[in-house]
Formats: sequence, structure tokens, C-alpha cells
Amino acid sequence: MDCIFCGIVSGAIPSTRIYEDEGAIAFMDINPGTRGHALVIPRSHFRDIHDIDPEVLAHVAKVAQRVAGAARTALAADGVNLVQSSGAAAFQSVFHIHFHVIPRYEDDDVRLPWCPRPADPADLRAQAEKIRGAM
Ligand code: 5GP
Ligand code: ZN
Repeated sequence: MDCIFCGIVSGAIPSTRIYEDEGAIAFMDINPGTRGHALVIPRSHFRDIHDIDPEVLAHVAKVAQRVAGAARTALAADGVNLVQSSGAAAFQSVFHIHFHVIPRYEDDDVRLPWCPRPADPADLRAQAEKIRGAM
């Protein structure tokens, strides 16, 4: 399989690692949105949030939490965004699941691409009912 992040796991592709254990690896994003932007991935290949084993996801989330806390302390970040994109429509470009840990600074230029607007409460109820029914 031709997967960049599997290449990073194996060491075939170099990376600047922050942390690794038996289940997950954290490394610096090669095209950071902010200072300290890191990625956390499972060692094993899963495509996205729909595909990943829930226990592996829980472990990756724990590692992401630790990286977020360490980045806040070490880099004096004012906040942090954890971003997980699943699917091309959600801007996923590498199809080995990953969490972005993006330290945020009062003066950074990151703008998340979404435009909040008030919703019709009846629409919210209808959407909630559909999602609830599929859980
Ligand atoms: P996505 O767009 O799938 O949510 O995020 C993929 C991320 O992987 C991007 O932020 C991109 O900069 C990063 N990336 C892509 N190729 C490499 C690589 O070879 N090394 C590292 N460290 N990051 C990469
Ligand atoms: Zn992979």
C-alpha cells in the first residue's frame, strides 16, 4: 500500500518525532499552520474515523491530549485546536487517520473554514432525530 504515514511509521520516510509508543506516533507537520503544529497517528493503518478501531482511537486521542498539553506548556500557546478530517469533502488529504494538534496564539492567522449561521430549531430537531436513529 502506498501510504505516506505508513512510511513515517516504518521510518522509510523521515519525520521529526515528538513521541512514540506501541500504538501511536506524534510528529511535526511538514507544512505547519502554526508554530508547533503536530500530527498524531496510530501505528496501524486505518483510513479515517469510520474505519478505525475504537480502542485504537481512544489511545490516539489520549496521546493527542498529551501533545496538546505539552505544546501549550512548552510553546506558551494561548489555545489549541484538535482537528481530525475524514473524507476529501472534509479536507482529508492523507488517508491514514491523523489528528492535527494545532497550538493557537492570540495573533496567529489560522481561520477555520466554516461560516456559522443561526438554524431553524425545527431543522435541528429533525437532524438530531435522524442521527439518533442511526446510532
Ligand atoms: P489532512 O489534509 O489529511 O488533514 O492532513 C495531512 C497533513 O499531513 C497536512 O497538514 C500535511 O502538511 C501533512 N503531511 C503531508 N505529507 C507529510 C510528510 O511527508 N511529512 C509530514 N511530517 N507531514 C506531512
Ligand atoms: Zn498508512
